[in-house]
Amino acid sequence: MPIEFLNLKQVNAPFENDIREAISRVIDSGWYILGEETLAFEREFAEYCGVDHCIGVANGLDALHLILRAYDIGDGDEVIVPSNTFIATWLAVSQAGARVVPVEPDDLTYNIDPQKIEAAITPRTRAIMPVHLYGQPADMSPIIETARRHGLRVIEDAAQAHGARYHGRRTGGLGDAAGFSFYPGKNLGALGDGGAITTNDAALAAKLRRLRNYGSEVKYHHDLAGANSRLDEMQSAVLRVKLRHLDAENAQRAVLAQAYANALASAPVQLPTVLKGTEPVWHLFVVQTPHRDGLRAFLNERGIGTLVHYPIANHLQLAYKHQTWPELPIASRLQSHVLSLPFATYLNMNDILDVAASVLDYFRPTDSAD
Ligand SMILES: *Cc1c(COP(=O)(O)O)cnc(C)c1O
Repeated sequence: MPIEFLNLKQVNAPFENDIREAISRVIDSGWYILGEETLAFEREFAEYCGVDHCIGVANGLDALHLILRAYDIGDGDEVIVPSNTFIATWLAVSQAGARVVPVEPDDLTYNIDPQKIEAAITPRTRAIMPVHLYGQPADMSPIIETARRHGLRVIEDAAQAHGARYHGRRTGGLGDAAGFSFYPGKNLGALGDGGAITTNDAALAAKLRRLRNYGSEVKYHHDLAGANSRLDEMQSAVLRVKLRHLDAENAQRAVLAQAYANALASAPVQLPTVLKGTEPVWHLFVVQTPHRDGLRAFLNERGIGTLVHYPIANHLQLAYKHQTWPELPIASRLQSHVLSLPFATYLNMNDILDVAASVLDYFRPTDSAD
């Protein structure tokens, strides 16, 4: 039986009836933008993350970008980001008009290395934007400590880490503000685009509510040159259904991740390393091997779908070619060594064992003594 990397219909199948009911409720309401569903979702997601405020926006990129704008971070400013992340982290900074300053990750946790941040700080630095990559919280305490010492904002990119915990506290409430994505493949995924900002900063939240809606609090009164970036009622209603199951799904992910770790213990691949004091939510299960391309082709032959997150490091993308970058050897190496194995809540233990067995088969020495 082939095992796809991810099948979104199967992801949503357990909630199909509730989702249809939620969508019908929105259709019947006759109110499609900034209504009761979005207000309710914002309240529920804020409570889930343990923060005072949640602002629904159109997608994860906008969430990060609007936080920067709300803090007046732009032209002439620098923002420290991980060299190893989805390009949206970088684009949020670039779109705000600020300069991306990449810092290398720890190559076992994949997250920004707090020890390397200090050296990247200049008088123009305004913020650090750690990413909780693949669902594992970045090492926030030393990051926040460095930021406080230099008077910098800490903006979490929590797009892959809904519900993850760092020393008991949920992502989304660890820094000054956080951006989430509800892209369909994320742990909390909508049936389209969606995003949210979480924060305990009341003034920031109030400004963001205007920024996402044409800079307006009172209809047709525009105090800011805002954006049109709203989470719509339909997606909010869907997300409310799925949020109720997020903890159970994240727990199921942890079981599957442990099963992969056990089954692959003897495989010559680098398994994910969990930082002490964190509870990852396993958005992806990523292994490292210099034989990545061969392994990937072998698994594909056997009907096992894999993906690479990410195949081209951001500083090597055409979009960022016009700038000169420092040597980024870890990001440059990871792009050709990382492989994301099939990972989804609908997979069962046998699926995981099948994939793991195929990984082991690939590395099994062929018997040349006939
Ligand atoms: C998905 C993602 C984003 C962007 O989210 P969109 O909703 O696709 O705009 C940002 N950062 C990271 C790390 C992501 O994985």
